[in-house]
Amino acid sequence: MALVFTFPCGRCGKKYSVYYPKVFLYSIYGTGTPAQGAREDEEEMASGAIDVARRRAEASGNVWVDASRESKIVCSCGKSLDLNLAHHPRVPQRRGVTAARQSGVIAFPGVHRKPSS
Ligand SMILES: [Zn+2]
Repeated sequence: MALVFTFPCGRCGKKYSVYYPKVFLYSIYGTGTPAQGAREDEEEMASGAIDVARRRAEASGNVWVDASRESKIVCSCGKSLDLNLAHHPRVPQRRGVTAARQSGVIAFPGVHRKPSS
């Protein structure tokens, strides 16, 4: 399941659904290797999970952002929005932390480490 956080712009309230690819998260949190992350991202992409999340976000009028491509965006109102997860308090710190409960947010699935392979 894809990790997507919804951030409202602090000034105008416009909502951004920000997709954090696993390869990107793993590089920050070290919860997996980049190779693992890339593989899981590919699987999610192939399964259509990303498309579903994206369509859902856009259907609710949110702007879809891929955090691995854009770490900062400028809202249409002119406010700069920092997408760096490390700067946000609502961040899964460790495995076992399952979700930020907030409307519009897709639950963080937890990181399942495969013992081998
Ligand atoms: Zn704004």
